[in-house]
Amino acid sequence: MARKKIVAGNWKMNLDRAKARELTAAVAARVGEAGGVELVLCPPALYVETVATALHLAGGKSPSGVALGGQNMHDKASGAFTGEVAPAMFVDLGCQYVILGHSERRTLFGETDAIVNAKTKAALAAGLTPIVCVGETLEEREGGRTDAVVTTQVRGSLAGLSAADIEKIVVAYEPVWAIGTGKVATPLQAQEVHALIRSLLAGLASPEVAGKVRIQYGGSVKPDNAADLACQPDIDGALVGGASLKADDFLGIAKAFQ
Ligand code: PEP
Repeated sequence: MARKKIVAGNWKMNLDRAKARELTAAVAARVGEAGGVELVLCPPALYVETVATALHLAGGKSPSGVALGGQNMHDKASGAFTGEVAPAMFVDLGCQYVILGHSERRTLFGETDAIVNAKTKAALAAGLTPIVCVGETLEEREGGRTDAVVTTQVRGSLAGLSAADIEKIVVAYEPVWAIGTGKVATPLQAQEVHALIRSLLAGLASPEVAGKVRIQYGGSVKPDNAADLACQPDIDGALVGGASLKADDFLGIAKAFQ
């Protein structure tokens, strides 16, 4: 069965409540333009409920079909973790997804593969679909270490997961040098790493399971470069930062994946 394409917007620490409502309404009203592509909005944690309300989410389902996700979470269910958000809290507000191991979390907040692994297991246990991010820095790419770095990240982040759990996740390949820089990986560069990730998943689970896992590309995706990425065989969607803050751009990217 063909993998359903998935385009997720990582709003990061942007917008205010009114703008979050406005953007959600604009995307939800035009979701038909991206028919067949799954859309996910990942607002700042504090605005998840605002976006859920704007999507008229009930029981995790939105009439518009747009899904909701968090940008990060703690791996513990509850307790003395000041400032953190528990997996079940996202579920409570109607989230189906959570982004984990984004390069900003890895570089700015010291998240290791072991931390990403614990969060991935906690997300799955709570019923969330983790979007697990991996990707090399410019220095690592220029040093010819892309495959080794991505292999370590995939194996470390997914260590101990059953094949059934691997089947449920989404992986995002996001070369760090392409995030927010306007430098997009060429479709071939991206495809090579996506194929590597799929072969790693085949080793961790099975070729059948690997064939079902959706692998998104992320890093300066825009409506005008999305089509070339979308036609690569192992690119199943996009994780979009900057361009997800404008409904036109976000939907333009989603359309490229139809
Ligand atoms: C991201 O942060 O996940 C991302 C891909 O950002 P941008 O699209 O802005 O490069």
